[in-house]
Amino acid sequence: MLEQKLKIDKIQRGTVIDHIDAGYALTILNLTGLDETNSLITIGVNVSSKKYGKKDIIKIENVFLDEVQMQQISILSSNATISLIENFEVIEKKKVEMPKIIKKLIVCETKTCISNSKKEPIDTEFLVLEKNPLKIQCVFCDRIYRLDEIKFKPRRKKSGKKVKQIIQL
Ligand SMILES: [Zn+2]
Repeated sequence: MLEQKLKIDKIQRGTVIDHIDAGYALTILNLTGLDETNSLITIGVNVSSKKYGKKDIIKIENVFLDEVQMQQISILSSNATISLIENFEVIEKKKVEMPKIIKKLIVCETKTCISNSKKEPIDTEFLVLEKNPLKIQCVFCDRIYRLDEIKFKPRRKKSGKKVKQIIQL
């Protein structure tokens, strides 16, 4: 059988997000706001992978991820790896790390949950019960969510417009 070579060019400097669960690349770009950069982004969707069967991969020139973006990726794809590239070489490679408690990034949909209080809203906190498949629990109202039930907090676009983000899988 012919081995399929990944047809994505190497980048000179920037970030490679590899081993993304197949089909999640576009969701990751949207959620992290990376789709708003002016940098060159190359995406591979349903790329053959020895380890995971199929995977997605994202390469972004001249962009390095912040902590929030890494957490968002870990929620959507706990096996993802992040490589930092300088002069076409990988200078650092790490697996995304899901925090034990996910703070602020996700909305709790229970109306009576204290995180939705109109008077004194507090930041949401979700305890990670299982990473893969993901299962998280609101620490305030105990409601349990699986990945396809999670609603991410809207992020502000650079223009200041609020964008509603509902992930539907
Ligand atoms: Zn709650």
